[in-house]
Amino acid sequence: MTPRFKSVVLDVDMTLSGVEGIDWLAAHRNEALRAFVTQRTADAMAGTVPLDAVYGERLDSVAPTLAELQTLGLAYRTKLAPQAREAVRSLLDAGVRVVLVSGGLRIAVLALADALGIPESDVHAVQTIHNERGLYDGFDHRSPLATQEGKPTIVRTLGLPALVLAVGDGSTDLAIRVAGAADAFAAYTGFVRRDAVVAGADHVIASFPDLISLVLP
Ligand SMILES: [Mg+2]
Repeated sequence: MTPRFKSVVLDVDMTLSGVEGIDWLAAHRNEALRAFVTQRTADAMAGTVPLDAVYGERLDSVAPTLAELQTLGLAYRTKLAPQAREAVRSLLDAGVRVVLVSGGLRIAVLALADALGIPESDVHAVQTIHNERGLYDGFDHRSPLATQEGKPTIVRTLGLPALVLAVGDGSTDLAIRVAGAADAFAAYTGFVRRDAVVAGADHVIASFPDLISLVLP
């Protein structure tokens, strides 16, 4: 069986897991912060404001501790998309390269990747900085992943085997395809369906078994 795509670039928040990390962190602070951050995230993922405009603002206002990011990692695993673990296993077994490219926070995303058997070298997310007590002390401002065009920038540098399929729920995932860094884009609607993202997609998948059908015909 020859895979239709040799590489699959997966989003994490609201794709592999039914958690939007920054919203989850804000919700564990207080209601006002939750409402503020959730709205900004929705705007960015719908593409009505660029991610660059909200990224640092959201993260600095939440200021997650190391311990909170580790707890978020557990939440990612608890809310793993149905059959995502089996799907990733099937892709890896078929020789498909699976990489996580996330605007989320690396410490938490690594916990999920580990559970899925995806090596750390294939995890691309934003590094936070913490002091010796684990308190938040900023993030890697040089990371392209904190910007609207960051995902295509990262995917291009990886030199992934073609054909490359990008999968996600958000405008920053669609941007990978629009910029030509992937050969095709599948909108994942298992958790949330964003009309502007679906409209630009080559494929629409509602589940991880759908992803397997697409990649391993
Ligand atoms: Mg997402």
